[in-house]
Amino acid sequence: MALGKDYSTQQCSIARALEVVGERWTLLVVRDAFYGVRRYNDFLTHLGVPRAVLATRLKSLEGAGVLERRRYQQSPPRDEYVLTERGLALWPVLRSLGLWGREHIEGVLPMRVFTHAACGTELGSYGECPACGTAVPPHDVEMLPGRGLDPDPDNPVSRALLAPRRLLLPVETDRV
Ligand SMILES: [Zn+2]
Repeated sequence: MALGKDYSTQQCSIARALEVVGERWTLLVVRDAFYGVRRYNDFLTHLGVPRAVLATRLKSLEGAGVLERRRYQQSPPRDEYVLTERGLALWPVLRSLGLWGREHIEGVLPMRVFTHAACGTELGSYGECPACGTAVPPHDVEMLPGRGLDPDPDNPVSRALLAPRRLLLPVETDRV
């Protein structure tokens, strides 16, 4: 029997989580939010996602309490999207999923390397620091370009993410 549109009749916590983050593009929006992308146009530029899809994903992530919208300009009104505590708690999931892709999908090279900013050690599978033996909150994670990164020089977000930087640090592009 085909799966229904959602899994809401299932109590499995994985099924319930997928209702929030399981649609195509959703986790990539969350990933970019960890990289410091906050503004609609920057998500659009970096992801190459269709506008309507991005708008729907941002709305549903906001509705699910993963992102919150903050007004950064009154006239004309402009909002940015920032991860909530609930959203920040997805960091180990993304870290784990990224490593799984690297280990189990042929030809996948690391586009980014994530280290514990305090000691420079690459994070373990769940975002922990193997050297310090502690969990590393996202704002203490340093992101560096990896071997697989093929930056687009014409893409301002891609450019902004080239230099080593902390996760969550807002991306500054020369947008108007
Ligand atoms: Zn460490």
